[in-house]
Amino acid sequence: MHLADRALAGHPDAKAALETALLDLDGQVAGQPIWHLLGGHKPVPVDLSMSIANPDWAQDIDLMDRAYEAGLRLFKFKGGFADHAFDVMRVKAARDRFPQARLRLDYNQGLSSETALRDVPKLDDLGLDFIEQPVTARDWQTMADLTARLKTPLLADESVFDPLDLDLGISRRIACGASIKIAKSGGPGRGLAMIKQARAADWSVYGGDMFETGISHLAGLHMITAAGGVDLGCEFYHANWHVNRDVLAEPFPGTGKTLTAPSAPGLGLPVDEGYIRHTATDHQALK
Ligand SMILES: [Mg+2]
Repeated sequence: MHLADRALAGHPDAKAALETALLDLDGQVAGQPIWHLLGGHKPVPVDLSMSIANPDWAQDIDLMDRAYEAGLRLFKFKGGFADHAFDVMRVKAARDRFPQARLRLDYNQGLSSETALRDVPKLDDLGLDFIEQPVTARDWQTMADLTARLKTPLLADESVFDPLDLDLGISRRIACGASIKIAKSGGPGRGLAMIKQARAADWSVYGGDMFETGISHLAGLHMITAAGGVDLGCEFYHANWHVNRDVLAEPFPGTGKTLTAPSAPGLGLPVDEGYIRHTATDHQALK
């Protein structure tokens, strides 16, 4: 991975795939799951969160009904794509309909500084677990201002890609927690280092992803397991709830309330290699 960094700046998502493949090979050779290679002691259940982002509220209610029925208790709304009233309506409606659910709101950088300073404080009494990245990645001043003003914790996502971002974000108090993703950090080993860095600063940690499939869900889950879990759960739900057909040969283990990493060697679940060959755009490279 040091060679990869010297060969190419950035591209953490490609490096995450590379580090995942290397860890899987290491695990296959050593007969150990990746979480054990990374220093984990035992599998731990990790709470599963689902992101709610459909402009069609009726479709989202239907999805949440099914997820809640399956045991899922964490829902993260994507906000800021419509108006403030729509975001508040969805949170309040979900609170009434799903009394045991814990709710979060993620703006994906969607607000201007002025709008964020005006509207986000109005959410402070809704009992949200956290409010994520209301403004653009480098608008650390607004993040810090909101963190100081709100009792609801702010979570940094796009503001913190790598350990240097996290270090600066912590020192400037831009949030109370971070979303850590293998596709931002450059792999499970590097993400694990960031989880430890966040914890050392008393920051909360959320296991984020980039709308992924089963292989990278597994990599993220091994990372979190090696850390002994994370306090805000993870969002590795796409393989079972969104993709038409996953790239794993077996269903990703987790349709209910929690996910638990497998203990078989490497990633721990077989990949559907025939399906990957079928969907590859460069078949020559896979021969
Ligand atoms: Mg986010």
